[in-house]
Amino acid sequence: MFEICAGAILTQNTAWRNVERALTALSGDKLLASEKIAAAGYGRLYRALRPAGYYRQKARRLKDFCRYTLKAHPEGLRGWFSGNAEALREELLSLKGIGPETADSILLYAAGKPKFVIDAYTRRIFVRLGFPDRREYGVWQRRFESSLPPDVRLYNEYHALLVALGKDYCKKTAPLCGKCPLKRMCAAARIN
Ligand code: SF4
Repeated sequence: MFEICAGAILTQNTAWRNVERALTALSGDKLLASEKIAAAGYGRLYRALRPAGYYRQKARRLKDFCRYTLKAHPEGLRGWFSGNAEALREELLSLKGIGPETADSILLYAAGKPKFVIDAYTRRIFVRLGFPDRREYGVWQRRFESSLPPDVRLYNEYHALLVALGKDYCKKTAPLCGKCPLKRMCAAARIN
């Protein structure tokens, strides 16, 4: 559970493979726990987090999250996450450096709450499919959550499929529309 939270914080502005390298380094240095990170010196954290990029900022954010968790929720993550989803989301969003995507990743993947995660892949694919390009995270999220049942497994699988589609076909530049499984329903495929 802690590893999922750490991954959600570290994944900002970097590819997941870099986060995995940082998590492996944290694990190798026996730092994959709130108490360990809260007590560790920054030099040690920088070394482990360097592969994830922005490592100084991410070390601070991770340490702040761990310190907050230990102080505000001595019952542990499991106890903290067993509460109401909206209250938990508000609390996560009140922490410095935790935005909606990070908060919702923690809610869905660590706490098992039905919150649909909106990321760059989701926006890119759906804008190309022909949906209006809106900036606000909440507008995107409401669109999904009002069309789908609040099912954690479904949200999990749906998001994983969008990530796979974004990586394998709907790339940032030069999307592979000819091979894409969504080409028949995609507005952009008619242009590309
Ligand atoms: S058809 Fe092309 S633009 Fe549309 S979703 Fe697939 S890869 Fe992306």
